[in-house]
Amino acid sequence: MGRILFWMLLGALIFMLIQNRKKLLKPRQKRQQIRQAEAKKMVPCPVCGVHFVEAEGVWVKNRMVCSEECAKKASQ
Ligand SMILES: [Zn+2]
Repeated sequence: MGRILFWMLLGALIFMLIQNRKKLLKPRQKRQQIRQAEAKKMVPCPVCGVHFVEAEGVWVKNRMVCSEECAKKASQ
């Protein structure tokens, strides 16, 4: 019987922890959504002029270009 009680208490504890986490996660999720929106910001490529997602850009000489190809052109 003691063992069953132990597992029940453990289960209740885990449940409470999950509930607390959900409350804590809410503002963090919002922040993450904002961060994701920032990550999807479109910027023009200084080499070919194509708009690309900033997070997928390639840095060359303090400039961000759209691809490895443009990175080569920019470094020439
Ligand atoms: Zn480009």
